[in-house]
Amino acid sequence: MRNLTAIAVLVAGLVLARHNGVVLVAALVIAWFVARPGRAGRAVAGRGMRRVAVRTHGGHGTKTAARHEAGHRRMAKANGWRVVSAEIFPDGSGVTWMDIPKDAPVDQLVAVDVAGGIAAGTWAGCSSDMAHLRKDLGRLPGGFIFDGPERDAAKRSGYALARKHVGSGWLSDNAAVRKDADELLKKGRING
Ligand SMILES: [Zn+2]
Repeated sequence: MRNLTAIAVLVAGLVLARHNGVVLVAALVIAWFVARPGRAGRAVAGRGMRRVAVRTHGGHGTKTAARHEAGHRRMAKANGWRVVSAEIFPDGSGVTWMDIPKDAPVDQLVAVDVAGGIAAGTWAGCSSDMAHLRKDLGRLPGGFIFDGPERDAAKRSGYALARKHVGSGWLSDNAAVRKDADELLKKGRING
């Protein structure tokens, strides 16, 4: 797309240059700016985003890992976030990479943290998820021993979001999680 725009600018410059040489020079400069690739840092995660790995540590089979990562993936998408990839490994571990807006609401962060455990129906292998959860809740005011009302509310809201989107209760539709888990078991990885 960027290259097409650059070519369009150049062609327009060539056409107009019959009347004014300065236009051609301007078109060349603009085309160069449009066509040059973005800086490497920008390609990793967009402005205002951070790229985060959400995992399961195994200690259970690949079937559990597949449901776990499918849960993270689907919850991130339900939040409207970009998922880079989800992957599971033969030892039952797995990782899902996603781009999270730096100003994302804490309950949405909580929802993604707990979505793996909720989708898999077990908290085995969730130690890094729980560490993320503590860190995310720490963005809100609260005490050292007691979380206090704001963190409690975000936690409740986050768990409810995850149960709604990736839970297996009769109120939720987790067909999407099952589909992703099947694909992960078959291919080991889902891009996007
Ligand atoms: Zn996890």
